[in-house]
Amino acid sequence: MGLPVVAIVGKPNVGKSTLFNRLVSERLAIVEDKPGATRDRLYSKAQWLNNSFYVVDTGGMVFEKEDSLAGEVTKQAQIAVDECDVIIYVVDGRVGVTAEDQYIASILRKVNKPVVLAVNKIEEYKKQESDIYEFYTLGFDSLTAISASNGLGVGELLDEIVDNFPAGSPAEEDEDSLKLAFIGKPNAGKSSMVNRLLGEERVIVSDIPGTTRDAIDSKFIYEDKEYILVDTAGLRRKSKISEGIEYYSVLRAIRSIERCNVALLVIDAEDGITEQDKKIAGIAHEQGKPTIITVNKWDLVQKDNQTTNDFTKEVRRELPFLHYAPILFVSAKTGQRVIKLISMSEEVYENACTRIPTSLLNEIIIEATSITPPPSDKGKRLKIMYSSQVSVNPPFFVMFVNDPDLMHFSYLRFLENQLRETFGFKGTPIRIGVRQRS
Ligand code: GDP
Ligand code: GDP
Repeated sequence: MGLPVVAIVGKPNVGKSTLFNRLVSERLAIVEDKPGATRDRLYSKAQWLNNSFYVVDTGGMVFEKEDSLAGEVTKQAQIAVDECDVIIYVVDGRVGVTAEDQYIASILRKVNKPVVLAVNKIEEYKKQESDIYEFYTLGFDSLTAISASNGLGVGELLDEIVDNFPAGSPAEEDEDSLKLAFIGKPNAGKSSMVNRLLGEERVIVSDIPGTTRDAIDSKFIYEDKEYILVDTAGLRRKSKISEGIEYYSVLRAIRSIERCNVALLVIDAEDGITEQDKKIAGIAHEQGKPTIITVNKWDLVQKDNQTTNDFTKEVRRELPFLHYAPILFVSAKTGQRVIKLISMSEEVYENACTRIPTSLLNEIIIEATSITPPPSDKGKRLKIMYSSQVSVNPPFFVMFVNDPDLMHFSYLRFLENQLRETFGFKGTPIRIGVRQRS
């Protein structure tokens, strides 16, 4: 279970973005900018007392210009339902209850999430008291008068929000250690790499009769952070019979990849890229895991100033689908660069968890389509109406288009490249879904 997510919903000009900025501002809390979100922060971490959570300003998301208020709010509500645990419904306390407020309330009442009503722009509580009470007619149990611009009442609002978090919500980001899996064919050097990271020849895990050794992980600490090496028992204590059989090594790779956050593909530099490497690399890719390609036994390679380049070319040619994966040349034997895998893993995992604000994403897509117009067929041109990142890890984007059949593989690849150029995403696969706009 991740941190709770709180969505701010309401019609334009009620003070949603002012409230958003206040909730995530340093005065109250910590702001943790998500990478890529610098231009337009619509999604940010906030903290109140001992609770951390994420705030989403759904109102800042751009929808199509011609959208009616009803359409816009319906979409906001939809996002809120999909993504959040608590909804803050902001209304303008100076204007009083309008038909629009009632309409939005009727939508939100149907949503099966707790709604906290924030009556905003209340700087003078005493004078405005009767205006505030009027908002009880919207039918929500929780009502708090606030001034987003000067902060009055925002503390009470936050208490109310935190009270509505689902039971069992974590108070802090799952500080769950990053789980790394060394994958690759037998004898590539996986065990040697694990031992290197664990600080040399560790005692072999003892066999407990009747239990499987299948999923024994090793922990280690590096620069005060804990990491888990997935499935290491099977690596360190090899069965000579099964190890040689390709089927088992692929099976093991599948299981390790499923359980890891980052896959470290180990290639034997002496052998180059083999069929088995391709198969295992393909699994990591298909499972959508951030991946680093480690070319091991680099100490055995006769080098001149072209060697690294040539090997890089070979990797890119033989594993084209892993084009996003960084390559690191290492030696488990001498220890050269092995420790770099840790900071690289952190980096690619962070990239996999990046969330791109919808408005920014759409800006980039519009820009891309004006540079290279989408394909057309029989006089009909593909039109991308609207895009949204629906999930992370791996980043998954959905593009709503006039006709999905008009989307070509090559154009998708072009769009993927544009997204990568703009937002990084080194090390992580990204996925793009194309949907007919309903
Ligand atoms: P949004 O469209 O809902 O995101 O609204 P904004 O946050 O952009 O605010 C709309 C207008 O209301 C701006 O002019 C803000 O300065 C003003 N505003 C926002 N919060 C308050 C408040 O607490 N009190 C007063 N008096 N004005 C506010
Ligand atoms: P695994 O089957 O992938 O776990 O591979 P191992 O870690 O058991 O290594 C297979 C063989 O390669 C062993 O004899 C290791 O000593 C050797 N080896 C592993 N890494 C290196 C390296 O970086 N350089 C050299 N020269 N030998 C290595």
